[in-house]
Amino acid sequence: MTELKKHFAVIGNPIHHSLSPQIHTAFAKEAGLLIDYEAVLSPLNQFKQTVQTLITKKLNGANVTLPFKKEAYELASSHSNHAKIAKAVNTFEFKEGEIIGHNTDGIGLVRDLEQNLHVNLNSKKILIIGAGGAAEGVVYSILEKKPTELTLTNRTIEKSNMIQNKMNEYAKSFDVSLNVVEIVKLPHHYFDVIINATSASLSDGDLNIDNKVFHEDSLAYDMMYGKETNFIKQARSQASQTSDGIGMLVEQAAEAFYIWHHIKPQTKTVIDLLRKN
Ligand code: NDP
Repeated sequence: MTELKKHFAVIGNPIHHSLSPQIHTAFAKEAGLLIDYEAVLSPLNQFKQTVQTLITKKLNGANVTLPFKKEAYELASSHSNHAKIAKAVNTFEFKEGEIIGHNTDGIGLVRDLEQNLHVNLNSKKILIIGAGGAAEGVVYSILEKKPTELTLTNRTIEKSNMIQNKMNEYAKSFDVSLNVVEIVKLPHHYFDVIINATSASLSDGDLNIDNKVFHEDSLAYDMMYGKETNFIKQARSQASQTSDGIGMLVEQAAEAFYIWHHIKPQTKTVIDLLRKN
C-alpha cells in the first residue's frame, strides 16, 4: 500500500525567513516519512481564517510563530500543560475535528542547554534578560529543572514582574527562588547561565549588562540566531562559553515532530547544517 503524504505548515507574519520547512523536511527524510511542509504568511488580522483554510486542506499539523502564538492559544480547543502555563501555542495538532495546542519552546531550550551544550540546570543560578513571549514561554521548563535561583530582568521591568507573579506558585513548588531585578541593579555576582531572550540585537541595541554577571565558567545563551549579537560579543570578552539559539530552534521543532509522528528525530546533523549555512 502506498504511504499517504501528510501535510504541515508554519504560520507567521513575516514568514519568509522561517527555517522550519527546511528542518522538518530534513527530519522527515531521515525518518523515511513522506511529508510536505509549507511556510504560510497570514494577514495580521486573519489568523483564525488562515488556520481554518489549512484545516479544510486536510493539514495534519502546523507550527505557529510571531506574532500569533497568543492567538493560537485562544484558538486551540485543548492544550498541553506547557501551552496552558505559557498561555501561548507554537504547535497545533489537528485531530478528529479538534485543535490541540502545544508549546515546545521551553522544552527546546532546555534540551539544547542540557543535551547539546551539556549544561545541567539543576542547582544553578540562571538569569533571563527579556520578558516577551519567548522569555515567558521558557520559564516553566527552566523551573522544572530546579535551579537554585532564576532571576528575571527586562528593559520594561513591569513585564518581568508580571511573569514572576504568574510563575511564583510553580517556583515555590519546585523550590526555586524566582526574583526580578532591574538591569542596572543586577547583583554583582555571577550567574551560571545567562539567557538573552530580547530582540535588542535586531536594532543592534546594547543591553547594558554588567560584566560581573558573567564568569569564565558561565554559559551565555542568545535565543537569537543568524548573527553574532552584541550580547555574545560581550560574553566572549568575559571568557564565558557562548551559544546562539539555533539549537533551541531545532529542538523545539524536534518536539513538534515527535507530537505529530511519534518519532524522535536526530537533531545534531540538522543543527550543524544550519549553523554551517
Ligand atoms: P517579543 O517582541 O515578545 O519581546 C521582545 C523583548 O526584547 C522584550 O523583552 C523587549 O523589552 C526586549 N527588547 C527589544 N528591544 C530591546 C532593546 N533595544 N533593548 C533592550 N531590550 C529590548 O519577542 P520574543 O520574546 O518573541 O522574541 C525575543 C527573541 O527571541 C527574538 O530575537 C526571537 O528571534 C528569539 N526567539 C528565538 C527562538 C529560538 O527558537 N531560538 C524562539 C523564540 C524567540 P521591552 O519589554 O522593554 O519592550
